[in-house]
Amino acid sequence: MNILLNPGPVNLSDRVRNALLRPDLCHREVEFSQLQSTIREKLLQIYDLSGERWAAVLLTGSGTAAMEAMVTSLVPRNGKLLVIENGVYGERLSKIANIHGIEYTTLHHPWGAEIDLKRLVTLLDENDDITHLAVVHHETTTGRLNNLAQLGAICQERKIQLLVDAVSSFGAEELNFESWGITACAATANKCLHGVPGTAFVIVRRDAMADANTPRTLYLDLATYCQQQDKGGTPFTQSVQVFYALAEALQELEEAGGWRARHSYYSQLVSLVRDGLFAMGIQPLLPATSSSVVLNAFYLPEGFSYDEFHDQLKAQGYVIYAGQGTLAKSIFRVSTMGAIARADMERFVAVVKQFISVDYSS
Ligand SMILES: *Cc1c(COP(=O)(O)O)cnc(C)c1O
Repeated sequence: MNILLNPGPVNLSDRVRNALLRPDLCHREVEFSQLQSTIREKLLQIYDLSGERWAAVLLTGSGTAAMEAMVTSLVPRNGKLLVIENGVYGERLSKIANIHGIEYTTLHHPWGAEIDLKRLVTLLDENDDITHLAVVHHETTTGRLNNLAQLGAICQERKIQLLVDAVSSFGAEELNFESWGITACAATANKCLHGVPGTAFVIVRRDAMADANTPRTLYLDLATYCQQQDKGGTPFTQSVQVFYALAEALQELEEAGGWRARHSYYSQLVSLVRDGLFAMGIQPLLPATSSSVVLNAFYLPEGFSYDEFHDQLKAQGYVIYAGQGTLAKSIFRVSTMGAIARADMERFVAVVKQFISVDYSS
């Protein structure tokens, strides 16, 4: 089996894979209701959130479904959204606003750039009608971890609601919902939580849904899901087997010591990769201090195309991930998420070393 170094879907542990084989279940039965409630509680517990103030709303779909549900359900018709862009996923948030006719403006940066807080403050001063700000926590495009503490402080001062795409950070990076003033965050089962693709979710402050307006969509309306899930139901069929796997993955995370333990394990893996590649002359795109522990981007070693590099590594059992857009030809990405052993990562570094040290010119 290949070791997946792409940022989800991830390699599954045996216990998560086996959970997929549990009994067939109707989503209108009490067993489903209990399964759903357990998942909702465990998702809140990861970051010590109270169920009175917060709700985990489960949707069947990929991470983008959760992003779209968050933006369309929480920005009211008379609201105005500011989207911060510094990668593919920030730009996706803008596309969502655009498609749904939500009034929005963007603070654009080149991919990988640090968010320019001075420009942000100026923009907010000039647009005092902005009610919501949407931003990506970990920009998987480059591995940059955006500083939510600073953004949160700026938003709280101005009473702006902070909507976060935490799809590739939830479960492995710090998320201080209360002190950073987060209103909602979108995430998925199959990234840092180590579940199966098919279920995504939004963690949302309950009072932010209270003044929810007429829904903009039928399928992605958070308030509808939340009301029914609070009563043990679901408006639509959920991905039952994926729920089984997610419940198991959450149990596994809890037993392993929660998000902090996962963070420190990923951190060990990513240091091993950065140090190992650096010793061979392979440079990271961003410094470690600006990067997540979940994914790092590296410049391709001189003389190799991405395809050649990818195919050689795949032949040795490792799936790396290409850069997007203009970065497609210059970088590759390595993610630490999933059931990956330290020894798998050590061998990855050894395989790269062996590969790039072959002299093709002779
Ligand atoms: C993976 C990812 C998504 C969602 O992608 P899907 O393919 O819809 O699961 C959204 N935002 C970020 C930051 C991601 O890494």
